[in-house]
Amino acid sequence: MSGNMEGNIPPPSPAPSSPRDRVTYAIDTELVYTDSNDQYRSSSVPIYQTATFKQDSLSNMGEYDYTRSGNPTRSHLERHMAKIMGANRALAVSSGMTALDVITRLLKPGDEVIAGDDLYGGTNRLLKYLSSNQGIIVHHVDTTNNNAIEKVTSDKTRMVLLESPTNPLIKVADIKGAATIVHKINPQAIVVVDNTMLSPLLMSPLDLGADVVYESGTKYLSGHHDIMAGIIAVRDLKLGEQLFFPINASGCGLSPFDSWLLLRGVKTLAVRLEKQQANAQLIAEFLETVGFRVRYPGLKSHPSYDLHWSMARGAGAVLSFETGDIQTSERIVENAKIWGISVSFGCVNSLISMPCKMSHASIDEKTRKERDFPEDLIRLCVGIENPNDLIEDLKVALIKAQCVKVSPDGTVSRL
Ligand code: PLP
Repeated sequence: MSGNMEGNIPPPSPAPSSPRDRVTYAIDTELVYTDSNDQYRSSSVPIYQTATFKQDSLSNMGEYDYTRSGNPTRSHLERHMAKIMGANRALAVSSGMTALDVITRLLKPGDEVIAGDDLYGGTNRLLKYLSSNQGIIVHHVDTTNNNAIEKVTSDKTRMVLLESPTNPLIKVADIKGAATIVHKINPQAIVVVDNTMLSPLLMSPLDLGADVVYESGTKYLSGHHDIMAGIIAVRDLKLGEQLFFPINASGCGLSPFDSWLLLRGVKTLAVRLEKQQANAQLIAEFLETVGFRVRYPGLKSHPSYDLHWSMARGAGAVLSFETGDIQTSERIVENAKIWGISVSFGCVNSLISMPCKMSHASIDEKTRKERDFPEDLIRLCVGIENPNDLIEDLKVALIKAQCVKVSPDGTVSRL
């Protein structure tokens, strides 16, 4: 227990794990392997569905007293995630946006934030709220260009927020280079990476110089679109304690049942995502061969192919492509059958969307135009189905949308 944050003494929080104090295995082993001191040695960690815990005595609170402050199922998940993310402390909260909300509680009026110009719509909305109502100054720049970051970094910069690849334009940021520049200009500034698009299986931003990493657990970590969750991970324990404060104060920690679901989901992350990205590669190649402009870091045509692979262990399973016409894109999306029309990604089943009309509709049209956001962009979030079925379903949708022709030998090409 430590007294900090303006003299408040937080209730006991789960002890941070020290994942690097023991032999570590490859990440696909670590995802499955868990240590537990359960009294019955249960194979699946129990769900402590309780709001409160009895104390041994008036003076001895014990490790847990109230689930808002800490719960054994949540602690188990947090320790497991810290290990997987190469962190010294992880915190589990009620959604990916909650994770960012908690992180932004580090800011004070007058602080400056540097964020990308191709951000997830919800992130954009939260930053806009902070700049309109909380006295935070937000600079939106192309965070895939380190010169642009350098230009706006100053002693007022408190936070630099990076996504790579960005969603849905699939632009790649040089996290290592950006972190070096920012920390050199202002050692107090923290570099925050939203690693939702790749997950800890494919990238470890803390190894690249990030101070804080967060993930929407709603996506790949859980994998089945059956929960909302967020994970925050840090190496600096003081920073971890500062981030724990608003979670304890507001009660946005992940519920015991959802912690258990996320723990169960994350064990299969490697098998799911490896299949998803193998499918995504085939689909990206198919669409490129047909003649569309495809954005996917698994394609050599991606302008930042080498940079991406210098940081990541895979290309992920989200790609986007342009058709050149909004109505054509609408027809493709509406004619796909296996591909569910849905926001979000990271689920075992494949999804199709038009970000301008869906996940990114909260970014107004003028801003989208300023940021060169193609209105006809289609985003594909690839699942674990049979790739031939997925490609066939897309082919039928392209034909119905009347944007391709089929040669007698079955080859599909753009009209
Ligand atoms: N970050 C990215 C890249 C996302 O795509 C999303 C949601 O789509 C979030 C964060 C927010 O996560 P959640 O929906 O769990 O709040």
